[in-house]
Order: sequence, then C-alpha cells, then structure tokens
Amino acid sequence: MLPTREETARIVICEDDQPTLELLSDHLSADRFGVLAAPTAADALRLCHYDDPDLLLLDLGLPDAAGMDLLREIRNPDRSANPADPGIGVIIVSGRGTEQDRVRGLNEGADDYIQKPFSYGELLARINSVLRRRRRSHPLLRVAEIEINDVEHTVKVGGKHIRLSMKEYALLKILASEPTRVYSKEELLQEVWGYRSTGHTRTLEAHCSRLRRKLDPKRGRYVVNCWGVGYRLVGP
Ligand code: CA
Repeated sequence: MLPTREETARIVICEDDQPTLELLSDHLSADRFGVLAAPTAADALRLCHYDDPDLLLLDLGLPDAAGMDLLREIRNPDRSANPADPGIGVIIVSGRGTEQDRVRGLNEGADDYIQKPFSYGELLARINSVLRRRRRSHPLLRVAEIEINDVEHTVKVGGKHIRLSMKEYALLKILASEPTRVYSKEELLQEVWGYRSTGHTRTLEAHCSRLRRKLDPKRGRYVVNCWGVGYRLVGP
C-alpha cells in the first residue's frame, strides 16, 4: 500500500478572484495536493485552524481583511483566538510586487512571495521547495509506515525501531522530505557526502541498497531505483 495523506500536502488557497481560485484548485488537485478553497480571510483562518493544512497560498487584497493582517495572525498564534499550526508554510501570491511589498511579506513570516501574473510551473516549484524546507525542519516525519524522529535520531518502520548508519539516516531524511520526487544521484551525493563530482556513485548505490533492505527486508518497497536518473523513497 502506498501512503495517502503523507504523499500529498494539504494547501489552503486564499484568493477572492474566482477564476484564479478555480484555476489553482484544478491544477493543484491534478498534482495530487489536497485543496481547500478560501475566498475570504475568515475562511482561510478557519481552514488553517481546523483542517491542519501544510501550506497557505495567500492573496493580499481580500474582501474582508488585508492578507498581511491574516499572515500576522497566523504567525503570532499567541494573539489569536483560533491559532493555526505555526509550522504552516505561507506563500504570498499577489498582484503587488514592489521590493517593499516583498520585504514586508517576508518580514511578516511568509516563506516566499510570487507576483501575479505567475506561471503555474514556477508556483509549483516554489510550493515544493517551501514544503521540502518545512518538512526537513520538522522533528517528526512520517511516510507510509516509516517514522523518522529527528530529535532522537531514530527511525521506526511499522512501529519497530531499525538501526541506520549516519549516512543512511541522512539519505533517508532527504528522500523522505519529498517522498515521490526522484532525486538525482548527483544531488544525493552532494547533499549527503558533499561530493561535487559524480565519481562516487558506487558508494551511493551501496548505501541505497542497504537502506532499502533495512526499511523493508522482504519486499524492498522503499528507496526505489529510477534507472539512469536516481532514487525516490516511494513509487509513484
Ligand atoms: Ca484579491
């Protein structure tokens, strides 16, 4: 069985322009994200509080409040009657794009800022990048039956502890931060070993096959080899 919830993040789209909201909802659903539509700031706040989303796409000009105030509310949960998870990622998607706007948005706690009109491809890349960063800094990471605890540096599979070397652990953490993405061998070597050349792929291959055996000795379902390209944690 492949993971359901863990594979696709949940995204609140706070956008009062109906065509833009629909377009984003359609595209993101097609890319297997869970989509929660919020045409007002109040909707967005409610969804962030009750539906435990991973990311908020935030328009600044909203009918019932300024997007920047909503951002402040989300980033200062102490002040809020309905606090959202402070770990939620926020990307501002706005028609305003002066340097001042961007600086203000980032200072208020947005992870990224993208100006309208935008290309969907670029937005998607930024969404994935924010989610990846957020997941890597989160102490508990779950993918299917794998559970990584980054505070204790422990890994459980199906509730049972397994022992990993430092490098295997580092490798797993990277693969798990975006479980269905194929990481190229160069990328993995660079991130785990700091190699700039591609001359050490055997080391990587050996670690990957050991990690695969340790995670699932019988069926080897994890650390999928995408021949000629690299590795992903779980199949598509
Ligand atoms: Ca607007």
